[in-house]
Amino acid sequence: MDELLDAARLAAAHLSAVPGGPVWRPVPGEAAAWLTGQPLPERGAPLGDLLGVIRDRVLPYPMGNGHPRFFGWVNSPPSPAGVLAAPLAAAMNPSCAGGEHAGALLERTAVRWLAELTGFPHPPGGGLLTSGASMATVIALATARHRVTGVRENGLYGERPLTLYLSAEGHSCLRKAAELLGLGGRYVRTVPVDAAFRMDVAALRRHIEDDLRAGLRPFLVAASAGTVGTGAVDPLTEIASAAREHGLWFHVDGAYGALGVLDEDVRPVYRGMDLADSLALDPHKWLGVPVDCGCVLFRDPAGPRDAFSLVPPYLRDDGAGELGWFSEYGPEQTRPFRALRVWATVAHLGRDGITRLVRHTRERAADLAAMVEASADFALAAPVVTSVVAFRYLPRPVDGALPAAVQRRGRAFLTGTVLDGRETLRACVLHPDTTRDDLAVLLDEIRAAARELPT
Ligand SMILES: *Cc1c(COP(=O)(O)O)cnc(C)c1O
Repeated sequence: MDELLDAARLAAAHLSAVPGGPVWRPVPGEAAAWLTGQPLPERGAPLGDLLGVIRDRVLPYPMGNGHPRFFGWVNSPPSPAGVLAAPLAAAMNPSCAGGEHAGALLERTAVRWLAELTGFPHPPGGGLLTSGASMATVIALATARHRVTGVRENGLYGERPLTLYLSAEGHSCLRKAAELLGLGGRYVRTVPVDAAFRMDVAALRRHIEDDLRAGLRPFLVAASAGTVGTGAVDPLTEIASAAREHGLWFHVDGAYGALGVLDEDVRPVYRGMDLADSLALDPHKWLGVPVDCGCVLFRDPAGPRDAFSLVPPYLRDDGAGELGWFSEYGPEQTRPFRALRVWATVAHLGRDGITRLVRHTRERAADLAAMVEASADFALAAPVVTSVVAFRYLPRPVDGALPAAVQRRGRAFLTGTVLDGRETLRACVLHPDTTRDDLAVLLDEIRAAARELPT
């Protein structure tokens, strides 16, 4: 199968061409029509032909997140070790539902390493890899819901409404999970944030007490360790205390930011993350594990197993040992070999390499913040804590058109958000090769894009 070697060469050529190409470019009509509208082939094509098609019609239109001047959303470049390992995981192609094979066994190490990196307690079985933090959040909230209801047997019929608490900057996946789990969007309380976009804990307490007085059942508070909007980390210790006093499940969304705890300059901000009942984090964000890979960690592995374990006769495994199968801890049955990409990435970088990556990206974010503050035409919109910089371009009211215009020019990529009801630009630095020059290009591109737009 020489084509496999050709594919590896093509991947390598693609990776080395990325920094010299446009960050992103619009997909021309004809190319988009081919990508979306191909007829089903009646007869197959040889592997070598497929490679040519991928080279000519797929690789030229990337999302952009391999480039050092990609600052959009929270999407990292793929770690080289992850790219190296991905085809080998596909070649083995196990289901990591469980069983005795390298895939399922290696996931034990991958999950434990993620717990060690983030300083989270790790009893054996206390976590699993997921498609992303959205699925990690579903598993965490379902576990918390199961703890206080008879949901597996009765559904939520007859239950007094459960309420949960997230900050105004909490990620949309929390509300999505609450809706999916039948908790009802109207019982999701949005707690206001302080001037630094961190959850206002006094307001959290007031919300909980109001709900108790109204006969509702507060059951969970979800804090953020790195919000998508500004990279803020909530006051985790104080939130943990409020949760403990009222018997609430304490969940932390560290999808993007949990690894920030590795940098001693910012570590104090993360104090209390290890008090969580569950922690969601995304190896496919700051760590750069190729998509997809999320993770959910639990203080007590019995929680998710009680919430999910359902072993039909055809899946019984007397040799599974005490921990059972991963599929007993979440909704997925057949599960991909994500662990090989995590293992390769962490084994290649080591704790010190990952710490350097976090520090490098935080330093570049601090550089960008300093450049913004030193420029009369830009202003910071929030303090910079992790590697997200939220800012505004003053000569022109920011709206959705400005990031889109920057993206179309192809020299830098950033996205926007709304903070305090105001449109804001935000740049998230995740690339190990981003330089100060790249940051200067970004600001110049925003100025140039603004000039192109109708006023
Ligand atoms: C990305 C992200 C999520 C959602 O995670 P997915 O991996 O996209 O499912 C949740 N919270 C935060 C803070 C994120 O950055």
